[in-house]
This record gives sequence, structure tokens and C-alpha cells, in this order.
Amino acid sequence: MSQVPHRFVFAAPRRAANRLLLPVILAFVLTALLLGGCALARRGPDRLDEIRQSWRAGFSVPAAELEAMPFYSITVQVDPANRVYTGSLDLDFPLSSTLPLAELWFRTYPNLLAFGGNLEVTGARVNGKTVPYAPDGSRTSLQLAVADPLQPGERVNVSLDYRGRFERISEPGEYTIFGINEDTTSLTGFYPILAARRGEEWVLDVPHPQGDVGFHDAAAYRVNLKFPSDQVIVATGSEVTRTVGTDGWTTARYAIGPAREFTALLSPRFQILELESLGTRIRSYAMPETLDAARSALYSAQAALQIYSDQFGQYPYREMAVAQAPLTFKGMEFPSVSLIGSQVYSLYLKDLENLVVHEIAHQWWYNQVGSDQVRNPWLDEGLAEYSMYEYYAGRDGAAIADDLRQQPEAAQRRPTDRARGVGLQERLRDGCVR
Ligand SMILES: [Zn+2]
Repeated sequence: MSQVPHRFVFAAPRRAANRLLLPVILAFVLTALLLGGCALARRGPDRLDEIRQSWRAGFSVPAAELEAMPFYSITVQVDPANRVYTGSLDLDFPLSSTLPLAELWFRTYPNLLAFGGNLEVTGARVNGKTVPYAPDGSRTSLQLAVADPLQPGERVNVSLDYRGRFERISEPGEYTIFGINEDTTSLTGFYPILAARRGEEWVLDVPHPQGDVGFHDAAAYRVNLKFPSDQVIVATGSEVTRTVGTDGWTTARYAIGPAREFTALLSPRFQILELESLGTRIRSYAMPETLDAARSALYSAQAALQIYSDQFGQYPYREMAVAQAPLTFKGMEFPSVSLIGSQVYSLYLKDLENLVVHEIAHQWWYNQVGSDQVRNPWLDEGLAEYSMYEYYAGRDGAAIADDLRQQPEAAQRRPTDRARGVGLQERLRDGCVR
């Protein structure tokens, strides 16, 4: 009803004004292209807005800092049934070297023996030009050779095509940080990631099989994941779009930044418990048979979020996830996602709270405050362990925290556990089960 007069009113003046507006518009477009170069068109106007959607209310990064970060745009299609994935990556970043560089290095962690996978780059372009590339001896690093040396401070664009395979057939109970096991597909480090720099050197260390795999500059990530619609996905950051196709595949886009890396986990059996706290949505993912443990993990995460935010500074993201993963009795941290070994949800239930609050502490000591986790794991691990003391002191008081510090096994018989168990049932009404 309102469309007809709108068309009528605006159609005629627009034609009359076009003669005047056209030179102005052309001048504006040319100026924008000169100032922004092709980068403006390549990045798209909305990509930083999507990154901002990953922030909780009250958190912000100055626009200039956000613009200056490396920006990953990744697409990937994951096919667990055929144990393969394919994708492409577009990265632009400021060259941090003080000298011109004729080579760039990327890490390809699935080729680690411990990962039992395979990641193969099938095409590479730097600033739009096709370049040769070759892996190093360990196949965990890939060198791109650039004919025209890149200049310090230059914003470089790299496009890569890749395909990967989940090669190792793991048994339930085996540590599987990458691959398929226990009805779960783990995508740790599935994409080529720009190697960090240590002074004027590329960081190409081969990590310990069951430790942290690497450290990376904080970056912005926008990732399009396509996966079978029967899978429940856990991923770094916020889901900004989702399309469920009639062909049985779902495509979801995730955004996050600043963040050290991107990860995702898929399982058709995941159930989700969730609640809101301090402007962050906390989700706990677990198998149906371990939902009680998932509920405990949810409330430990909530308490850790509150206590660490008070002690160390605000948590940046809209989302926080704690997920059961095929990591035996161990845990692993990723930006906004903490993975907890499946055995901790059953065999080692007494360790669940400690592990959850340790991994969540890494949201501060690893993700927000970065350090070399491969060469100096004592640094972020020491701070994460110390954070557990702050957690118990904040929740139960310094006397109990001191007692636990002296005799950690006392954590199993804390009187507060029983009292808190009653509270859990009551507070669950605030959350919902999916
Ligand atoms: Zn740790």
C-alpha cells in the first residue's frame, strides 16, 4: 500500500538529479579506490561488523586496531562420512618484518604425526599472483616463494586452496585432537595458518604430540563451514548466519576477533545446556549419557567467568563453550572454546571442575595475553594454574583455597560441593536443554 506513492515521489526527481550527481559519485568512487585500493573491494564492507557481533556488550576494540589485524576469510566443507574436507582461505595481514621478505611460511598442523591427518595445499596466490610453494621436511610448515619481495608494513594478501583428510582410525579412549573418534569430528588447526615471527625469524617449531601446537598473532576470523545437517557444531566465535539446505547440508558462518586461532568440533550426538552470564552465552556440549557432568561443567564455567572477569579483566566474547571431546582425561583451550576429555565426564568426574576452570583461565592466559606456548608453556600454564586458586578463593574463600593448594586431593570432599549440588538443580531452570 505504501510502495506505490514512494515509487511515484522519488522516480522523477532522481532522473533530473542524475546529471548533477553522476560527476560527484564518480569523483567519490575514484577517490575511494585511490585511498583504499583494491583492498576495499576485496574485504567487503561488512566483515568488521561481523567480527563485532562476536563481542559481548561493553567490549570493544578501537577501529584502527581492528583494521590492522590479520584477517582470515575461510571456507570449508567437512564430510565426516568420507573423512575429508576441502576449502579455501583468503588472508590479508600487515608484514611485521623490518626487512623485505621473499618468502612466507604457513603452518599445516594436520600433517603432524600426532594429528594423524593430512593437509595439502593445492594452489597459492600472493597479492593475486600465483606463486610456487613447498612443504618443509616435517610437512608441518609450507613455504610460499614470492618473486617481488614484500615490503615491511605492506598489507599482504594470500589466497590458498586446500584439502584435508582424517586419516588415522582411532579407537575410543585414544587422544584425538584432530580427526574422528567417539562420534566426534575434531578440526583443530585444519587450515593453513600464518606462522608467527620471533624477531626476524619464522616460528616453525614442531610441537610436542600432546601439548599446545603453536602460538599465533591475534587475528580476525570469518569462517564459512558447510557440514551435514545431522551434525551439531561447536565453533570458535559467534554464528552470524546459518542456511539449512534441502540437500542435507548446512552452511554456517562464524566470526571472531581478536583471537589466536579458529577451531570447530562436530558430533551428531551433542546435547547442549546453556545459560547467560555477564552478557556471555555459555554453552556446555556433551553426549546424552553424560549430561549431569555437562551441567556441572556449565556452572563451573559460569563461576569461572564471573571470578576471572573480576580478577583479570572482562571476557571479550558473546559466546563461551565447554565441550566434551575425545581427549582422554585432558583438556585443550581455544578462543571461546574449552575442550574437556570425555573420560573426565565419567571415569575422572572428580577432576571436571578443576579442568574446566583451568581451561577457561586460558581465555585470559593464551588468548588475550599471548605467549610462546611451545617453548615456554610454563608461562600460560603457570598462570592458568594460579587462576584456579583465584577461582576457589573467589567462590569458597581464601581459607578453603589455601587448603586446596596445600592438598589438592581435598577438592573431592569439599562441603561446598554438596551444597552447590542442590543449587544446580534450581538454577538449571534459567538455562535450557537442547
Ligand atoms: Zn593449560
